[in-house]
Amino acid sequence: MISSGLCLYCSEPIVEGEPLGDVSNGTVHRECLIRMTAGSLGHQQQKCSCFGGQEEDPPGLTVREAARAAADYFDRTAQEDPPPADRFERLDWMERRSGNNERAGDYYDRNGLPLSLGEWARRIEDPNYKRVALTNFGPLAVSTVWLGMDHSFARFLPPGAGADRRPILFETMVFFLDPVTGEWISDDTKHELAGEQHRWHTLEDALAGHETVVQYVKDNILPPEAVESIRDLLTTVYKVEEDQ
Ligand SMILES: [Zn+2]
Ligand SMILES: [Zn+2]
Repeated sequence: MISSGLCLYCSEPIVEGEPLGDVSNGTVHRECLIRMTAGSLGHQQQKCSCFGGQEEDPPGLTVREAARAAADYFDRTAQEDPPPADRFERLDWMERRSGNNERAGDYYDRNGLPLSLGEWARRIEDPNYKRVALTNFGPLAVSTVWLGMDHSFARFLPPGAGADRRPILFETMVFFLDPVTGEWISDDTKHELAGEQHRWHTLEDALAGHETVVQYVKDNILPPEAVESIRDLLTTVYKVEEDQ
């Protein structure tokens, strides 16, 4: 019995009872979804152009048959190399399984040592690891955090361009506590110092830079009385609007 649809990948009919893979805009065969996500047999075996080879789908097969070959290989190797239970280790497993090795090298720990995606994800969720320094001045806060993902564009430049290629791994940002919403905001619509942002290569630079920004805020912040009167003014303004 043939159902109404054709597979979006191979264009063959989808037969009722066959295992399927859902994609956001329709349905495909399970093997076709695996071929779409894990890649061709050649790609999974790292013999394709991504790895300097020429093999993609095996020659002489239909689209569907090539998808089956890719799915068979995927299932076979998944038994030998099953997904780890730990969700961070599973990120690394997925990268390894999809042959995406280009990411390695873009993530670094606080000391500038390379991390895998999974190791980075585990640390970025740990507030104690992420936080480098935090200094509060009433409604303003200077926050310095470890980003871990290289935010430098220099790595995209051609070799020999003479750029500083050290990864940028830390960020200092000034936040303002919005008296109306009670949220910390990082744009200067409510306070001229909010959103002040600097990025740093190393932990040492980040710690020194944090102190520089703290001093900058100290030198430019309004006295507490002025902050109080602005807060009163804002409250009054919003109260007036509420009453209308
Ligand atoms: Zn299909
Ligand atoms: Zn490939």
